[in-house]
Amino acid sequence: PQPSPFFDPGAQSVAGSLGVLQLKRDHLIPAILSASSDSDYAEGHVENTRFGSYPHSTLLNQPWGTQVLASVVDTGSRSSKSKKRKRDEGDEGENGGDAPTAKAGQSKSEVVKAERSRSEVVKAATASSGFAHLVPPTPETWTLCLPHRTQVVYTPDYSYILQRLRVRPGDHIIEAGAGSGSFTHASVRAVFNGYPWESNADEETTAKKRESKREGHVYSYEYHAPRAEQLQKEIASHGLDSLVTVTNRDVYGDGFCLDSEDEPNADVIFLDLPAPWQALKHLTRSPPSPAVLNAVSDASADASDTPQPTSKPFRSPLNPKSTTRICTFSPCIEQVTKTVSALRSLGWLEIGMSEIQAKRLEVRRERVGLQEEGLRGANPTAATVQEAVQRLRDVEDRAKAFHGLQKVKQDQVMRRAEAKKRGEKTAAATSETNGKSGAAKAKLDALPPSKHDRLERAKRDLERRALFKEGRLVHRTEPEIKTHTSYLVFAILPREWSREDEDKARKKWG
Ligand code: SAM
Repeated sequence: PQPSPFFDPGAQSVAGSLGVLQLKRDHLIPAILSASSDSDYAEGHVENTRFGSYPHSTLLNQPWGTQVLASVVDTGSRSSKSKKRKRDEGDEGENGGDAPTAKAGQSKSEVVKAERSRSEVVKAATASSGFAHLVPPTPETWTLCLPHRTQVVYTPDYSYILQRLRVRPGDHIIEAGAGSGSFTHASVRAVFNGYPWESNADEETTAKKRESKREGHVYSYEYHAPRAEQLQKEIASHGLDSLVTVTNRDVYGDGFCLDSEDEPNADVIFLDLPAPWQALKHLTRSPPSPAVLNAVSDASADASDTPQPTSKPFRSPLNPKSTTRICTFSPCIEQVTKTVSALRSLGWLEIGMSEIQAKRLEVRRERVGLQEEGLRGANPTAATVQEAVQRLRDVEDRAKAFHGLQKVKQDQVMRRAEAKKRGEKTAAATSETNGKSGAAKAKLDALPPSKHDRLERAKRDLERRALFKEGRLVHRTEPEIKTHTSYLVFAILPREWSREDEDKARKKWG
């Protein structure tokens, strides 16, 4: 078997493997990279995005993390190729196939809509201004670009869950429902215990290695058949099928045991189901007594939860040799209450609930001193529009006040000169103009200090505080982060403990 690109993506992208195009921080698209020229485009396969077009030829054999520029895609050859195909198929419309023609049963507005979306694709195909980063597939990047079939568990939640559940290489995990497979990809990485084969190892070495350590495994259950099928396909195309078993099953009714005796043999359980308490009666070490089953079914108001008598012999899906750790993921507190009550009845311990409220913090340095002074650094272009407009107004007001003061002073000089000519005493004139110039000066002083004065003052202040170079460290929370708020219930079920185990332990530990 080939290593999965999720564990071993190699140094660079290769044809036939999964790559992820990161267009913005939280905007990623997956692509199975193809070197084939069998495409509508002259360039071969192309990823058309709102941020430009990326022919696969520009994405192949690139070291992961490469920044790729959008290309201008030859849409002419695309249409001539499609035209040719249409002609070959004898499907050309009366207008030569170019103008939108109504398909059977298509209304006029549908034709216009189809044409509009076609022109959007062409626009995107011809745009070449954008760039993207080519990154390898990981559970984190996959969660952000997987095809959504359901609500998914996001990275902030699953990283906390896997850590709280103490998932480690070699563990067996039960996951239900599988949904879109976001949690499946994160959990398979957590249990992965290395490949039992080496590139040139013979069968015997591989078998020995396989025996020497337990292989981790994810047992994934989903009752919606198309979802289960789709996930199975994705898991296979990601090279993870030897580590994940997807089963199409209603776990409320049919539980978790598989045909083979030693499967799933689970250490860890994660339930992302609408009614997790309905699945709990199947997660026990011994058959629950009728009284316990009644108590568990009482935990639910749902009649479908009533235990049905079964003729099958009891088999536990849990690993008898390890403490089972469980987490249930529920959006409502009523679901939590029912789950906790069922867990108690079934003997689970250390039951607790957590709620995750993930926040992303943006941390940066800010020229705080200069900002306090109404300037954003020494660079005037860094100012906001409002600040720039205010600054222009200040400059204008200052100029007006300055010219007013100058005029008053000129008047003063002229009046004095005229009074002197007439041989009058200048005292009266002087006191009148003094009053005017005093008012004009006061007006000028009342204005905000000039840019030059402010900059000088700010620099002096910052030099004193040694902040001018560094800026002050500030942070703010980003409101948008992809996570689905839910309540997480955690609990443990102690391992089986027999008289034999007790004797062995006494012997060993004294
Ligand atoms: N954890 C998944 C992920 O990260 O992508 C999302 C799970 S989705 C919210 C819940 C899934 O549980 C749905 O796909 C639904 O079909 C499935 N489901 C609901 N009841 C079920 C049952 N009784 N047995 C198995 N699957 C069930």
